Amino acid sequence: MQTYPGEQLEVLLAHSEIKHRVENLGKRITMDYDGKPLLLVGILKGSFIFMADLIRSIDLPVAIDFMAMSSYGAATKSSGVVRILKDLEQSVDGRHVLVVEDIVDTGLTLNYIFGHMRSRGAASVKICSLLDKPSRRQVAVPLHYKGFEIPDEFVVGYGLDVDERYRNLPDVCRLIKE
Ligand code: 5GP
Repeated sequence: MQTYPGEQLEVLLAHSEIKHRVENLGKRITMDYDGKPLLLVGILKGSFIFMADLIRSIDLPVAIDFMAMSSYGAATKSSGVVRILKDLEQSVDGRHVLVVEDIVDTGLTLNYIFGHMRSRGAASVKICSLLDKPSRRQVAVPLHYKGFEIPDEFVVGYGLDVDERYRNLPDVCRLIKE
């Protein structure tokens, strides 16, 4: 993949490893939600590739919806401010909701979403995140399904961006600024 001036990429998680892990998550979700209609809520934009792969590994009738939040903007450090940029199109009232996120960093975004879903009457709310950076957590969030724990490094690829760049990388890579 072509990089931008002053930036380098180093593969942290290869696509084959991600694929294997996502398939395992899908199998676990299939077993856990057997008989329960499931609503997957993807948090845009970073989760879109993970969501697309995950849903194809879940062997249950599922509905999907999306929310978009902002907490980072164009910077690589969290601002601590969480806002809804795009809300759900479907009601979550009485439904089993699985929130699908790309990465949990400070936990502020998911903490907000978790409370939001519960206050709207979801029958259950669980969280599935591809990546977890536990060393940066500011608020505890229940992570029911997790792909990989990673160190405190800024990563891109497999849907994750910096300034809208690198989302199309098949691997998750460290972004190194020179
Ligand atoms: P939190 O609210 O947990 O601090 O932030 C979660 C959001 O911050 C993620 O959904 C993602 O958009 C962004 N984020 C956190 N760490 C990274 C990272 O290493 N790389 C990228 N591209 N985004 C990140």
